[in-house]
Amino acid sequence: MVGEKVFQGIGVSSGTALGRIFLREVVDLTFKNVKISQEQIAGEIERFQQAVERVTEALKYERSKVFEDLGQEEAEIWTVQLMLLEDPEIFDAVMTSIKQDLKSAEAAVNDVFAGQVQLFEDLDDDYMRGRAIDLENLRKRLLMQLLGKEEKQTEIPSDSILVYLELTPTDVGAIDKNKVVGVIAEKGGTTSHAAILLRSIGIPAVFGISDFYQKVKNGTGVAMDGKTGAVILNPLPETKNIYRAQMVKERKQKIELEKLVTLPSVTKDGQKIELFANIGSLAEARAADVNGAEGIGLFRTEFIFLGRKELPSEETQFKIYRQVAQLMGQRQVIIRTLDIGGDKKPDYIDIPPECNPFLGYRAIRLCLKEQEIFESQLRAILRASTYGRLSIMYPFVISVEEVREANRILEQVKVQLEQEKIPFDKEIPVGVMIETPAASLLVEDFFQIVDFVSVGTNDLAQYTLAVDRMNAGIAHLYNYFHPAVLRQLQLIGQAGVKANKLVGICGEMASDPLAVKLLLGLGFNELSVNPSSLSLVKSLIRETTLAEAKKIAGQALSLPSAAAVKEFLTSVTS
Ligand code: PEP
Ligand code: MG
Repeated sequence: MVGEKVFQGIGVSSGTALGRIFLREVVDLTFKNVKISQEQIAGEIERFQQAVERVTEALKYERSKVFEDLGQEEAEIWTVQLMLLEDPEIFDAVMTSIKQDLKSAEAAVNDVFAGQVQLFEDLDDDYMRGRAIDLENLRKRLLMQLLGKEEKQTEIPSDSILVYLELTPTDVGAIDKNKVVGVIAEKGGTTSHAAILLRSIGIPAVFGISDFYQKVKNGTGVAMDGKTGAVILNPLPETKNIYRAQMVKERKQKIELEKLVTLPSVTKDGQKIELFANIGSLAEARAADVNGAEGIGLFRTEFIFLGRKELPSEETQFKIYRQVAQLMGQRQVIIRTLDIGGDKKPDYIDIPPECNPFLGYRAIRLCLKEQEIFESQLRAILRASTYGRLSIMYPFVISVEEVREANRILEQVKVQLEQEKIPFDKEIPVGVMIETPAASLLVEDFFQIVDFVSVGTNDLAQYTLAVDRMNAGIAHLYNYFHPAVLRQLQLIGQAGVKANKLVGICGEMASDPLAVKLLLGLGFNELSVNPSSLSLVKSLIRETTLAEAKKIAGQALSLPSAAAVKEFLTSVTS
């Protein structure tokens, strides 16, 4: 009998799965590289143009399918590919290669696209590397057309775990959820588009196991854990039992938690806690709605800006904000203004190279300088505000002056809209994110001029501890249970209670079951969490009293280290 073999990758979409390997076919795209004659030029150009037309048609069809299943934001990935395919520079380069270098359509496509892929892969930027995947996908699809190699639609057996060298968003769009229980790929990271889509459709996935494709055969049994990144080939009966038990547990938890969806989020002693969701797209707003979100506590609008080649227009933004507003109806939707910069840099916004991008030109700093971008976003939000209950939230502030300046621009935009007789919510609430130690120390001052605050613990922990949240090498030092973070949260919570205003948390800490009671005890009255965590967080809110939560917070604050706090919270969380 063949023994088990354990591989460790990166868990990019959580959930446990047991199934059998199904290798996604690697199509042979080799071709003879011979020079064409002058007479063949016209024919090769026509072949290239036809291939572009067919791939364009296929991409448009897939885009409409994804739009229906997942929503507009996810469909943007196909829009990007269509734009790349229509890019005149790339198109002309292929034409020149056929006409002047006398290359066949295959050779010209291959060389030009491979060159572009290389160019993007070499860039030190996750977003740009994402474009390399898009271009590689286009190279393969065009070559398949030219070589007459349609991807074979082999019947995929039930309980398949698909294995790829590298997965494209198009591949995810084609996955049959009834048959596929998991995905494994050699390449790719947590923030790749493919990973985001896999999480959206809820298929467990592990990326980053090198040489995996070569080592496995179709039909081999496999157990995988999309949370820990563990993959076990030929699992022994006892391993299978462990995974089966875990799957049953996950299913039961899901069923139990689903029962809570329509129940209100109140503590055992009747204290209302606003349980909101974090979203980055309309599709996520739908997930938030289905999972019982009482509002949106953070709409990360930068995702609208990132999946594009050029600045989204006011009209494009307006439509997206309007759709989210309409979907949520009378539930509050907090739209965060553009938080670009740091690790999120679209190439159409000019951000000079920086030694410390996370301490640099980002978020509100950029918006106050690039006022046209800011104004167009504010106009879009205000115009959408009559379709629901919108609020505006400024990210990454460090001073009261910044908020005053942002509000001054907001007032100007309101005046313009009034002059244009465009309706908007004149009382639209305005809040700030507390993401820097400077902001948390000034929280009382902020409460004087804003309607609410929401703590971005992801950044607050990073800036308080001087620990880069993206650096895996020092990840052990990154911890929002650190006493220095907790003491700031205490300050913010107390200020919120004193001001009698909405005081929330929208960083990942709010989705952490260990942190929920502690945060209630510190005075927070709004938690904004991942749509998939809503029910779990609600169950914790509903099982505690405020007195109990305050006691937990008091004890946690007296502890000397993050480790001690975590150990204590583990002991008091069911
Ligand atoms: C945060 O910093 O906690 C936050 C919610 O913002 P982001 O994760 O988008 O930086
Ligand atoms: Mg942040």
